[in-house]
Amino acid sequence: MSRIAENIKVLEAKVAAAAERSGRKREDILLLAVTKTQPVEGIRQAVACGLSSLGENKVQEIMDKYEPMGEGVHWHLIGHLQSNKVKYIIDKVDMIHSVESLKLAEEIEKRGAAKDIVMDILVEVNIADEESKDGITPQNTEAFIRELAKMAHLRVRGLMAVAPFVENSEDNREYFRQMKELQVDINAKKIDNVVMDVLSMGMTGDYEVAIEEGATIVRVGTGIFGERDYSK
Ligand SMILES: *Cc1c(COP(=O)(O)O)cnc(C)c1O
Repeated sequence: MSRIAENIKVLEAKVAAAAERSGRKREDILLLAVTKTQPVEGIRQAVACGLSSLGENKVQEIMDKYEPMGEGVHWHLIGHLQSNKVKYIIDKVDMIHSVESLKLAEEIEKRGAAKDIVMDILVEVNIADEESKDGITPQNTEAFIRELAKMAHLRVRGLMAVAPFVENSEDNREYFRQMKELQVDINAKKIDNVVMDVLSMGMTGDYEVAIEEGATIVRVGTGIFGERDYSK
């Protein structure tokens, strides 16, 4: 078995166990393979192991890998997205996890309308109020979603967070809990056109805790492919 296949086997067991601890099934959680910096050969191995949803944080990498990976995979844009690049990915990705400005949302609306596409989006929340991170503050999230709800070519599916980098994943449990609370609170407002069923949170270091607290998508790169090589 290849290293990637072995890694995925271990991950699958841990995802399933964490899902069970949270009273859910493995199928209720999407294990998104984060493929940034990874060559297509490695990505193909992950797809062969059943991971067909792929996350990239740069538009350029989706553009480069889109044709080689071909049909049967689902791309998610998970990193910062500049408005002027929406046009390149509007018909290539299934979901944009990182919507955090009205300008970006308006561009997705415009490009979606032109191609008759309704884009599934998540609102990125800066849950730990970190200066270095993108995202809407928890306090402003509801008002922001009310603006997005007026746009016909994007569908608000939920919330996304990049939790702080920590040594001990338990340190992020409270942030994941707050994300779940925010999702429940906003759903309770019954905003027209908004039913948030997705919570994208948890990475290699903390995906088990994230699932225990309600994550429906975990974004895992290193845990599948090993350490990234940024030199290439
Ligand atoms: C790189 C990245 C991940 C995956 O990080 P790992 O620690 O390698 O699992 C998840 N989410 C985002 C937004 C990323 O940029």
